[in-house]
Amino acid sequence: MKRAFYIGRFQPFHNGHLTVIDRITKEADELIIGIGSAQLSHDLENPFTAGERVLMITRALVGLSRPFYVIPIEDIKRNALWVAHIISMTPPFDIVYTSNPLVIRLFSEAGIPVCSPDMFKRESHSGTSIRERMRTGEPWESLVPPCVVDVINEIDGIDRIRDLDRSDGDLSTLFSSGADHV
Ligand code: ATP
Ligand code: MG
Repeated sequence: MKRAFYIGRFQPFHNGHLTVIDRITKEADELIIGIGSAQLSHDLENPFTAGERVLMITRALVGLSRPFYVIPIEDIKRNALWVAHIISMTPPFDIVYTSNPLVIRLFSEAGIPVCSPDMFKRESHSGTSIRERMRTGEPWESLVPPCVVDVINEIDGIDRIRDLDRSDGDLSTLFSSGADHV
């Protein structure tokens, strides 16, 4: 029995992440997905809550051929203790899948095997570029699974990002759906 661990912030979960998970299902029996920086939300780098990210990932993986666990993990801001923190929050695992250099370094120093899958269309498929598209109104929907589009629409995610991008006093259309009442 081989259990794999895959960690990211998933702000939002996109098709690049899905290619990693596809690969893991071919190489491991079970999959743990750690949602990093779980305590952060409602800022431009981290617009979505841990719960919203759980919803994106769980819906995107309906029908996955392997059992999976989605676990929000708060950032403790102590890199030297971070692997122990992860281990304390997850089922035991045998291998880590990550292409993040710091994550590779921390797990390798702890003696845990690491696999770094190839990047899938990284120019377009990165959380940073997808959030920027959401902020500026460029199309982003084809870069994420369809059910992630649904979740972001359900939570009014694009308006949230646009509101986060405003300055004080720039309130002309803020919460426009409620404007009739004021
Ligand atoms: P951000 O730009 O916000 O850092 P991201 O796209 O890098 O977002 P993360 O949540 O930081 O997404 O990444 C989680 C994991 O997924 C990391 O190991 C990262 O290297 C990997 N990953 C991200 N994008 C891709 C991609 N296009 N193809 C394969 N792996 C990816
Ligand atoms: Mg990243």
